[in-house]
Amino acid sequence: MTVVFRMEAPYRGAYELHRLSFGSGSPSVAIVAGMHGYELTGLHAVNMLATALRVSRPKGTVHLLPLVNTFGADENQKRWPFDDQDINHAFPGDPAGTAVQRIAHALLEATHADVCVDVHSGAPHVRELPHVRVPMGGEEVELGRKMGLPVVWRRPGDRLDATGLVGAWRQAGHKAVVIEGGRGGTLDTQHSELIARGLGALLGHLHILPAMPGPGVLADVTHSEVETHRAPFGGFFVPEVKVGQRVQAGHLLGYLQAPIGGDRLGELRAERPGVVMTLRAYPMVHASELLVRVAGIPQ
Ligand SMILES: [Zn+2]
Repeated sequence: MTVVFRMEAPYRGAYELHRLSFGSGSPSVAIVAGMHGYELTGLHAVNMLATALRVSRPKGTVHLLPLVNTFGADENQKRWPFDDQDINHAFPGDPAGTAVQRIAHALLEATHADVCVDVHSGAPHVRELPHVRVPMGGEEVELGRKMGLPVVWRRPGDRLDATGLVGAWRQAGHKAVVIEGGRGGTLDTQHSELIARGLGALLGHLHILPAMPGPGVLADVTHSEVETHRAPFGGFFVPEVKVGQRVQAGHLLGYLQAPIGGDRLGELRAERPGVVMTLRAYPMVHASELLVRVAGIPQ
């Protein structure tokens, strides 16, 4: 383990950005997790991958940065706790700037690689089935598919914003994808395992490790093939499905009831066959909030 960046903190121990590196030469892969401090499903997945890499002989270089926002993780927070800034809005960063700008600069410098992966979780009130987010076309689509995660989501202009890490990687000429899985503030070990297997399959595809299958793609979709259900009004949301569950058109996804008394106010039903990709975890909802996303599966 190498400390690639260190920054004194005003009261507690210094901030340190840790990197685990395996192998040498090309191709090179950098995998980042925990930029949002409470998104720890990815941290666990990257540590599982590290365990596998310690007993293998990678043909190429793998850099793992399992936990960027250590101080946020300490406090169950997404952002950098001192000034509530999002590190992922601070790229390309500035070595003479604010704390998050300095961390962003150091993180970008420590992750120059042919293929880069940024691992996130959903917010604490939603649970995400592990999926990879890739652009609409190009080599990154194939890299995403080779991970074999349950959903491949092709999105226009995904995070090409230069203030995000993926945008900064792409501007530097690297192939970059995002994995989302699990739920902020929560460890879902099954989702960590899926992500770890997906990352292992990527390393196999790149011939860094022996070929190994990913978990298996259930849905390969563009934005128009993702069915998004938002709350038509506020209430208490009771799900009738789990993430990863296959549904047919008409399947009851959940219902909204009155928080006091429990009168049923409305139902959500799938409009087409698919797999439940996103599911509201915190039951109190306001109008327009996200409840369920179903990634379509052609019949
Ligand atoms: Zn995140």
